[in-house]
Amino acid sequence: GYEKVWRIRSEHLLKNAPTYYKKPLLIHEGNMQWLFDHRGRRYLDMFGGIVTVSVGHCHPKVVEAAEEQMKSLWHTTNIYLHPKLYEYAEKLLSTLPKKLQVAYFVNSGSEANDIAMLLARLHTGSYDIISFCNAYHGMSMGAMALTAMCTWKHAVPSAFGVHHAMNPDVYRGVWGGAHCRDSPIQTVRECSCTPGECAASEQYYGQLEEVFKYSLPRGRIAGIFAESIQGIGGTVQFPKGLLKKAKELVKSNGGIYIADEVQTGFGRTGEHFWGFEMHGVEPDIVTMAKGMGNGFPLAAVVTTPEIASKAEQALHFSTFGGNPVASAVGLAVLEVIKEEKLQQRSHDVGTYLLQQLAGLRDKFECVGDVRGKGLMIGVEMVEDKDSRRPLPAKSFLDVWEDCKDMGLLLGRGGLSGNVFRIKPPMCITKADADFTIAVLEKALCKFTE
Ligand code: PMP
Repeated sequence: GYEKVWRIRSEHLLKNAPTYYKKPLLIHEGNMQWLFDHRGRRYLDMFGGIVTVSVGHCHPKVVEAAEEQMKSLWHTTNIYLHPKLYEYAEKLLSTLPKKLQVAYFVNSGSEANDIAMLLARLHTGSYDIISFCNAYHGMSMGAMALTAMCTWKHAVPSAFGVHHAMNPDVYRGVWGGAHCRDSPIQTVRECSCTPGECAASEQYYGQLEEVFKYSLPRGRIAGIFAESIQGIGGTVQFPKGLLKKAKELVKSNGGIYIADEVQTGFGRTGEHFWGFEMHGVEPDIVTMAKGMGNGFPLAAVVTTPEIASKAEQALHFSTFGGNPVASAVGLAVLEVIKEEKLQQRSHDVGTYLLQQLAGLRDKFECVGDVRGKGLMIGVEMVEDKDSRRPLPAKSFLDVWEDCKDMGLLLGRGGLSGNVFRIKPPMCITKADADFTIAVLEKALCKFTE
């Protein structure tokens, strides 16, 4: 029963990992976009286990692939060859730009980012790395150094050689709310400028140049990390053109560009399979995890043969990386995304959701910003639209809790924890989107009445 589980959690499990809600849910079952608690109550899961359940909880095709593989072979480590890994690697690489042809499989996004750091340093012979403020790249020691949110940095000295460029948030950053030069009524996020033409983009780029001028040894750099849309930071989109120009600056100083696609990969943003495509940048390294395994531990680093060759002298090992069952699951996930046209669905249902949410933003003073792409959406809650002050936690949590009581699970993010994050399994329907809007509207009405 619930009480026993809660007692064990309270007494015997480290409580530094957060649970959601005053009384966390005890989940017994998942089926596609639905979760069921211990009383059999059904919830629409609009957060997908933190952007991880990409094709649906216990998707039958993925379950079947895992079961079949388990019957024949579970584990070997990479000291032997096994066919599933190579079948999967080939299929995965076919989704990426042609020059990214070498993969290394691990078990989590943090590990993937650690290895990407290592590859960048081995390849360039430089040590310094840039990531953006408000970024989340993981919790291992290496990845925690890249992460730049005080909430997620503990008991580590500020890392040598990691520099943070300013928070590129066009709603809340230093140049937040900057308007497009050509169209003063449009914020830069919505305008159609070509890369480098936007006011905010130029300001943030100027600040990046300052990092080169003042912090890097003679401008030398190993690489820059960027999420294509910041996830945990609260679904923050970069100003137009910034990442493309950032990559050019880094390349001209001898460094490489690393795209952290842990949240934005596998069709999540709808229009593109990979998030970096929306910025018109071709990365030198891509890191991926989460949706890749639909909840099964599976992650990877993919790079060019040239960068990989430099690392071949640096012995590395991951006991579970490239596991046969994980490979079978990863392969099935790719097949399901294709067969069920989930990227297209992410685009269609996501666009519809964004339109409906914009209606809520126009109706309620406390809904400050609605943003995102495909099924990677953020709804930023504020005290009022003018001040943009984050809605205090108590109020935010009231709305969040009410949604849960009405059967709707949402994520939470942003430095002040005031952003609802909507990143469901990509199998959701328009009816699920309507349900989400109806519940959120009801909760907001109750809050504001
Ligand atoms: N990068 C990003 C963008 C993430 O969102 C996360 C996890 N939330 C990670 C890396 C780290 O992944 P993991 O938790 O699998 O180590």
